[in-house]
Amino acid sequence: MLVSPLSGLLLRPEKNRKYCMRMVIIGGGFAGLQLARRLNNKEGVEVLLIDRFNYHQFQPLFYQVATGGLDASNISFPLRKVFHNSKNVRIRLAEVKNISPNTNTVHTDIGDFEYDTLVVATGAGTNFFGNSNLEKHAYPMKSTTEALQLRHHLIHNFEDALNATPDELQQILNIVVVGAGPTGVEVSGTLAEMKNDILPKDYPEIDFSKMQIFLLEGSNHTLLNMSDKSKEQSQRYLEQLGVNVQLNTIVKDYDGSHVTLTNGERISTRTVIWAAGIKGNVPMGIDPDLVVRGNRIKVDRQNKVLGYYNVYAIGDIASMETPKYPNGHPQLANVAINQGKTLATNILNRVKNPNAPLIDFEYKDKGNMATVGRNKAVVDLPKPKIHFGGFFAWLVWMGLHLVLILGVKNRMQIFLNWIYKYFTFDQSLRLLFQDFYKNRKAGN
Ligand SMILES: Cc1cc2nc3c(=O)[nH]c(=O)nc-3n(C[C@H](O)[C@H](O)[C@H](O)COP(=O)(O)OP(=O)(O)OC[C@H]3O[C@@H](n4cnc5c(N)ncnc54)[C@H](O)[C@@H]3O)c2cc1C
Repeated sequence: MLVSPLSGLLLRPEKNRKYCMRMVIIGGGFAGLQLARRLNNKEGVEVLLIDRFNYHQFQPLFYQVATGGLDASNISFPLRKVFHNSKNVRIRLAEVKNISPNTNTVHTDIGDFEYDTLVVATGAGTNFFGNSNLEKHAYPMKSTTEALQLRHHLIHNFEDALNATPDELQQILNIVVVGAGPTGVEVSGTLAEMKNDILPKDYPEIDFSKMQIFLLEGSNHTLLNMSDKSKEQSQRYLEQLGVNVQLNTIVKDYDGSHVTLTNGERISTRTVIWAAGIKGNVPMGIDPDLVVRGNRIKVDRQNKVLGYYNVYAIGDIASMETPKYPNGHPQLANVAINQGKTLATNILNRVKNPNAPLIDFEYKDKGNMATVGRNKAVVDLPKPKIHFGGFFAWLVWMGLHLVLILGVKNRMQIFLNWIYKYFTFDQSLRLLFQDFYKNRKAGN
C-alpha cells in the first residue's frame, strides 16, 4: 500500500494546490522534533513525523527514572501535543523498516510513505560490540521503556534479597555499571545515594554495608571527554559516595550471574547496567558505503547525505566532518537540536527562493557537565575555559536540565520532585508493576 504522507489530510485540495514539499522525518528525538517544530505552520512544506513511540524522550534523565527518582511521564512528552493546531505537521506511530531512495519511499510496519525530502533523525541505540551474552543479560538505558525495565529489575531484586541465601544475597547486592561516561557516572552515583539514604529504610532486614556498586571503565579516567579537573573530581565524588571505581578494566562477558573481565577476574552479580557504547540506528536502504565509525551516516555541511539529492541525516546518526570536528560531532542533544534548526532554516530559505544560499552547520560548544549526586557535579565551560564543581555546578546542571525539558507541567513536576528529594533524602517511586516485570523476564 502506497500512501502519500498526508493523504486525506492535505491542507489544500490537490487541484488548487501550489507546489508543497512533502517531507518525511524519521525520529521525534531532539533533532527531528526541533526540525518539525521549526517547520510547523510554515508555507511550502508538509511534514510527516514518524516515530516508534508517540512521545519525545528526554534521555539525559533516564537514569533518574531507572533509580526511582522521576516518573517516566515526567521526562516524556506526547508528540501530538506539540503539534496541536498545526496545519502542516502530521504524526504517525510506526517502526521504519527500510527506505527506498530510488522511489522516494519509506517502508514502515503500518504502510509505505512517499516523500520529496527525507530526513533521517533516528538517533543511536546501544552498542554491545557484538557480544550476544551482554545483549541478552545486561540492562541498557536507551529508551524510557528500558529505564523502567531496569527500575523494576532493581526493586524486584531487593524484594528477592529478603529470602536469599548468603551467596545469592551478595549477588543481588553487587551492581555493576559498565562505562564511566556521564550516564555511568550519574547512575552509579545515584545508586550509591540509594544505598546510603533509602534502601536501609526500605529493607531494614538487609545489611546494606555489603552492597557494592562497581563502576568499570576501559580507559584510565571517568568522564573521558571532560577536563582533567572534572575527571579527577568526578572520581573523587564517586569514591566519597562509596562507588568502587575500576579504571582500565574491560568486560569480556556476562552470563547473567557473573561478569568476566579481560584480566580473568569475575564479579558475581545479577545486575549489569550497560552504559559503555552506542551505535547509530541506520535504516536499511542507505548505501552501506556511507556508514562510517559508530554506525553514523556521512553527511555534508548542510546535513545532506553524501550522494543523495533529497535525503538528509541530523543528530546522533549524522557524521559530519568539519575542521573543528574531523571525526564528526559529539553525540549530544545540543548538536542534534542545532542541526535541526540549521536544516529548517535552509529548507525554508530554499522553499522561498530555490537559489537561496545554504548555511553550513557549525557547532558552538557551550560546555559539558555531569552530576554525580547531591551537591556534586562538574561543569566545563569552553570560552573562557573554566571548570567548576560542587554545589554551584550541581545547581547549574539542574537549571539547564529544567530549561531543556519539554512542557511546563513536566518542568514543574521534576522541580518539585527534586526539592522533595533534597529535603527528605528520598523519593517515592519505587513501585513494582508485576506484569510488566514478568513480561520482560519472559522476553515479551
Ligand atoms: C542515558 C543518556 C543520557 C544522555 N545524557 C545527555 C546529556 O546529559 N547531555 C547531552 O547533551 N546529551 C545526552 N545524551 C545524548 C542525547 O540524548 C543525544 O545526543 C540526543 O538524543 C540525540 O538526538 P537525536 O534526535 O539524534 O536522537 P534521539 O533523541 O535518540 O531520537 C531518535 C528518535 O528516533 C526514533 N527512531 C529510531 N529508529 C526508529 C525507527 N526505525 N522507526 C521509527 N522511529 C525510530 C526513536 O524512537 C527516537 O525518538 C544522553 C543519551 C542517553 C542515552
